[in-house]
Amino acid sequence: MLAHKLRVCDGGMGSTLALHGLSMETDPLWSARLLHSNPSAIQRVHSDFLDAGAEILVSNSYQASVEGFVRHLGVSSEEALALIGNSVRLAQNAAQNTNKTDILVAGSVGPYGACQNDGSEYTGAHVSGMTDEQLMDWHRPRVKQIVQSGASLLAVETLPAVKEALAVLRLLREFPGTKAWITFSCKDGKHTNAGNDFGSAVQRCCSVGGDALVGVGVNCSCPSLVLPLLESLDGHPGVPPPDIMPRIVYPNSGEIWVAGKGWTSNPAPLEWPVEEWARRGARVIGGCCRVAPSDIKTIAQTVAKINLKNL
Ligand SMILES: [Zn+2]
Repeated sequence: MLAHKLRVCDGGMGSTLALHGLSMETDPLWSARLLHSNPSAIQRVHSDFLDAGAEILVSNSYQASVEGFVRHLGVSSEEALALIGNSVRLAQNAAQNTNKTDILVAGSVGPYGACQNDGSEYTGAHVSGMTDEQLMDWHRPRVKQIVQSGASLLAVETLPAVKEALAVLRLLREFPGTKAWITFSCKDGKHTNAGNDFGSAVQRCCSVGGDALVGVGVNCSCPSLVLPLLESLDGHPGVPPPDIMPRIVYPNSGEIWVAGKGWTSNPAPLEWPVEEWARRGARVIGGCCRVAPSDIKTIAQTVAKINLKNL
């Protein structure tokens, strides 16, 4: 599905909404609230990224959960599920409004921690106390809704811990034919944010994922970590080469989110070694938090040159 060419993914939804004057960083639902209050703003950001050259749109469901919507929006479970489904449709609508074909809509499946409003998505703190069944039960309603909404695949992303990745992959067996990539958030060039060895984590995903798993990699991590992380997969026992298991890469801007303070600012422009990442097996390259449409445009230009060379 993703192996035959290098594709451009989109960038950060929240930071691009902020460029439009919609800063959601102090909201417990973050940008997921706009699925309820201002869905057209979300579709506009998807269009911004398409215009910049993105070929894969990630739905705005990262921080969307049934209990979060029930608690913070006062809606019913059914209404919460409809909002999650709408996150996929907004990306599909944006894709239909362009003359581009072959746009993929990846339904974002963020970690359990991302919906707890305590920064635990970056440590995996909650996950160690949960059983596989509890993790599967928590992920099931959103995954089901995203699958039913016709997303091209699932972007199971920013996972701090291999335990949660394996639980989601087990869950996907309930949805035959569904495809997904798994990307971890990582704290250094060898370890996920929960401290799992990255190469071993990817190997375990590959052994459990079966036909559902169409890509593995890293997102929402410092760009400087991408290359050592990709290198750690080269020749790793049990990790198929990129032609069989594409590497997925969409780091953040390198800035760090500090709870209660916000983003540490990093004024340096993005100068990412996109070509080197591609040589190391990246088949999808985009950005996560604080990566703007202008950054995706730069990446898309480089990707176009790489694809031309490889024709
Ligand atoms: Zn991010």
